[in-house]
Amino acid sequence: MIDTHVHLDHPAFDPDREEVLARAQEAGVRALVTLGTDAASSVRAVQLAERFEVVYAAVGIHPTRAPAAKPGDREVVARLVVHPKVVGVGECGLDYERAGGAVEVQQDNLRWHAQLSRACGKPLVVHNRAAHADVLRILEEERAERVVMHMFTGPAEYAEACAARGYWISVGGPVTYARAEALRRVVARIPEDRLLVETDSPFASPHPHRGRRNEPSFLRWVVEAVALAKGQHPDAVAERTEENARRCFGLSR
Ligand SMILES: [Zn+2]
Repeated sequence: MIDTHVHLDHPAFDPDREEVLARAQEAGVRALVTLGTDAASSVRAVQLAERFEVVYAAVGIHPTRAPAAKPGDREVVARLVVHPKVVGVGECGLDYERAGGAVEVQQDNLRWHAQLSRACGKPLVVHNRAAHADVLRILEEERAERVVMHMFTGPAEYAEACAARGYWISVGGPVTYARAEALRRVVARIPEDRLLVETDSPFASPHPHRGRRNEPSFLRWVVEAVALAKGQHPDAVAERTEENARRCFGLSR
């Protein structure tokens, strides 16, 4: 398995980061991608990727952090993106639930990341909350090609639109929730070659860990819920999503 989205630099992991990674590997997680959320967090993500073989990094400025970004932060991200263990651009995107008056700032931030992704050929990792139409429109206008829709919880039509454009669709903890029948029906129809799995640790813990700190070793719960939704064996989902993640992020075996 590959956990395509974690925030390993989060202070929640300060007490036991090495143990968290050891547990992940024991649980069958062969690689994980840690996402920067601003310039400082992107620097930390790259440091973690340098320190731990199993860790890869993506660098970017999260939509909720975009309004606080300082002049020079984009240059920091653009310098980091060429690092050999940086495999993606993000976390970026649009978050209209937490935009305040910063919709335009978020949109400009997303466009800049889409351009960086095109320039370096590394996939764009997109956070989307309550902004489906604008995300799709901006990605199209910026001719984004390699795109990961992170923590997908959208409706079937949105999944279909993403898959039709060749975007990857990453599924996390919410697919395990008892009341997530509708999401499981959507996930069941995501094309095999587009599907990724993630934990978004330390957030979005899967059932039965909901409400507590999430960590990459819990990825198996996501895989099992996806397998149940698709009527497949969990090992088949683990293998297929690992293969997809390797292709998406260019990770060798
Ligand atoms: Zn995230």
